[in-house]
Amino acid sequence: MANNIAFCIAMAFIVLCSTVSTQAQYNLPEELAKKLNRNNETLSIASTDYGNIFHQTPWAVLEPSLVSDISSLINYSNSLSTPFTIAQRGQAHSTKGQANAPHGVVVNMTNFKRYGSRISVPHCDVNSETGCYADVGSEQVWIDLLRKTLEYGLTPLAWTDYINLSIGGTLSNAGISGQAFRHGPQISNVLEMDVITGKGDFVTCSKKKNSEIYYAVLGGLGQFGVITRARIVLGPAPTMANQEYLVSYSKRNETIIADFVQGMIILNHPPVDLSFYQESDQQRINSLITQNDLIYYVEIVKYYDNTTQAHIKEDVEYLVKGLNYIPTFRFERDNTYEEFMNRYGGIRALDRSPSASNPWLDMLVPSSRILDINEGVYKNIILKNNITGSTYLCFPVNRNK
Ligand SMILES: Cc1cc2nc3c(=O)[nH]c(=O)nc-3n(C[C@H](O)[C@H](O)[C@H](O)COP(=O)(O)OP(=O)(O)OC[C@H]3O[C@@H](n4cnc5c(N)ncnc54)[C@H](O)[C@@H]3O)c2cc1C
Repeated sequence: MANNIAFCIAMAFIVLCSTVSTQAQYNLPEELAKKLNRNNETLSIASTDYGNIFHQTPWAVLEPSLVSDISSLINYSNSLSTPFTIAQRGQAHSTKGQANAPHGVVVNMTNFKRYGSRISVPHCDVNSETGCYADVGSEQVWIDLLRKTLEYGLTPLAWTDYINLSIGGTLSNAGISGQAFRHGPQISNVLEMDVITGKGDFVTCSKKKNSEIYYAVLGGLGQFGVITRARIVLGPAPTMANQEYLVSYSKRNETIIADFVQGMIILNHPPVDLSFYQESDQQRINSLITQNDLIYYVEIVKYYDNTTQAHIKEDVEYLVKGLNYIPTFRFERDNTYEEFMNRYGGIRALDRSPSASNPWLDMLVPSSRILDINEGVYKNIILKNNITGSTYLCFPVNRNK
């Protein structure tokens, strides 16, 4: 254990090392220099992210066409007496400058997309524990992986809500959505990765091979190496998703076995997004919110296809049986599986206004303390201080996943 920690710290130091002044004279190898972009507009884009809180300008942006360009950059930086900061950037949906490299070099991973889709046709090995998987370039976004795998009747198992995020970006965090209680976060559904370490080495890693790197990189906030390829676990894809929204304002203790479970808290702070609901229901829900100041809803999804369609209604009844909710505030919708997975597809356009900052906070809370969060945070801080304009989501997660 102690060895692992020492290893991680050493790796982090190599990638993070200190910054270098923009005046520094670089004697860059010609091949590398050709791929560094110092155009003002490119630098300005690379200095921001979705959070719009930090604006940290890099010295240059690397536009790689080969994986080896990234090793060349790291090797070059390590050859300097004062190496510069390097940060990999996927879709830049970070909220606090995590993909920025002040005075250093941002590696624009999305540049690989110009050289083909780098999503391999899914493989299934029926004789091994591995099952089905796809090999994917880390610059690819999850929606594209979904579309490709659906062509083969397969799908990744673990998701984020919004899926226009890069594979490398979410695997550097966790990747949590309403499926996590069954399959774990996205980082628990990766069989193997190719990584370029802080020493510039190209390493293939898995639970069994170079496992220290595998575990450090997954959820490693981009500090332990650059993921260039990930092997993602796939399972059979359903065709449809039945969404149930159950509005409730009391605690429930049941165990839910569904394909997706998510909770949301709506506070009496306009504007409230009720776009899921029919217009005729929106008014009723609004008055419920006004009367109660805050309401809780649970979203449960059950997937189905032709073979399970006949008993989907029965299954859903079974799932909601015993839940404490207001029967007249139960809403249901059927979507194709792809429509459901991509339900937040338009969010980027909504939230990328240059004047908006988007601070987000994620916390893992033990279930024994969730009522304290409800009292202390939702009621006594947010509601009491009239803090508006935020969304509060809760995902149940099983510790063993
Ligand atoms: C609208 C929205 C909805 C979201 N919903 C969810 C959700 O439901 N569940 C959830 O878990 N998260 C969610 N997130 C958070 C999201 O998972 C992270 O912000 C994720 O990092 C975004 O991926 P990205 O491609 O934008 O990464 P970036 O912001 O580009 O990078 C994030 C971090 O990963 C590093 N990184 C990027 N690519 C690589 C790579 N190839 N190798 C190594 N490190 C790399 C970067 O250096 C940086 O530290 C959401 C974010 C937004 C903006």
